[in-house]
Amino acid sequence: GSQGMGWGDPTMAPYACQRRTPLLHSNQPLTEVLETLAEEASFSGSEGRSLAFTRAASVLKALPGRLSALEELGPLPGIGEHSRRVIQDVLEDGVSVEVERVKLSERYRTMKLFTRIFGVGVRTASRWYQEGLRTLVDLQERNTKLTRQQQAGLRHYEDLNTPVERGEAEFIGQMVQEAVQRFLPGASVTLAGGFRRGKPHGHDIDLLLTHPEAGREAGLLSRVVSWLDSQGLILYQHSQENSFTIHESPEAPGGRDLLDRFERCFSIFRLEVRGGPGAARGWKAVRVDLVVAPVSQFPFALLGWTGSQHFERELRRFAGHERKMVLNSHTLYDTRRNLFLPAASEEEIFQHLGLEYMPPAQRNA
Ligand code: ATP
Ligand code: MN
Ligand code: MN
Repeated sequence: GSQGMGWGDPTMAPYACQRRTPLLHSNQPLTEVLETLAEEASFSGSEGRSLAFTRAASVLKALPGRLSALEELGPLPGIGEHSRRVIQDVLEDGVSVEVERVKLSERYRTMKLFTRIFGVGVRTASRWYQEGLRTLVDLQERNTKLTRQQQAGLRHYEDLNTPVERGEAEFIGQMVQEAVQRFLPGASVTLAGGFRRGKPHGHDIDLLLTHPEAGREAGLLSRVVSWLDSQGLILYQHSQENSFTIHESPEAPGGRDLLDRFERCFSIFRLEVRGGPGAARGWKAVRVDLVVAPVSQFPFALLGWTGSQHFERELRRFAGHERKMVLNSHTLYDTRRNLFLPAASEEEIFQHLGLEYMPPAQRNA
């Protein structure tokens, strides 16, 4: 339609958590360029600019059809000047000169190369770039100081940058489930992350562990990981203990960012393969995140670990600004009434927030 879509239209509600955002949408070429600019902004440390491009891309993902003219967007405040200009360029010329320039720039390409190493964030990549490093070989030849995690990331660089297939995710989920049953019958393993949102492949496998009886999950993870390790299934792992206590001020756990304090393990699994990359070797390295949640926090953990990252950020922003509530992967706290709002399911969390329930497949914001 050409009458423009205002905020009254539910597809264009101001927060991404109020909109249905399916995996497949009609504006891929536009969202791709906006996300490239978002990435480039984050490489430069401009988080605000990055978020603006991410927001614009996210709005386009929720449009019911293909955008053919800028005017169709109407006066959406979610899309800034710069994003509009880029959208217009792509609609008119099929490409954005600015984005093409970014993609070719040495800095962007190098940052992309380095941040694809497991354990390397924007700050480290940026420092290496400043020091004149440009390739993975440079890192080795110049004896760059690497953490154990980064060493593993570099060793398995190719595998870890090969998408994980859904079948592989389900297979590893099953494997972990069997290990979990050995030590704690009745415990469950849930596939979260992008795969739960319906993505056919992903960069890692996110698994959530819990047990229906509170407290029984304590100590489970280290036993499971040790056992998998003894079976030769783990190439790298780095575990963290649970550091969450309900007695802290509700702002403290995770604060505004998306990090939480569950017992967890960031790992690299050794997955037997027959075809595809690594077939000659017979195995492939795969990134797996294991997270343990006590059952009372499980719905919050599941919601937090299903993503997308932008959906989570928007959900928390909505909770804070519109409801004066603090949401994280552990709890929901109502600051007006000074109480925690328990939930037995994701649906109940949406209810507490006064939001329409969004199934995982619609959280691809
Ligand atoms: P991909 O297919 O690339 O893995 P994804 O959506 O699964 O996509 P992840 O980076 O695996 O992306 O993150 C999944 C979800 O888990 C996100 O919503 C993110 O907020 C959450 N998450 C990831 N890492 C952490 C962490 N260290 N602490 C808390 N939550 C995290
Ligand atoms: Mn993931
Ligand atoms: Mn992950």
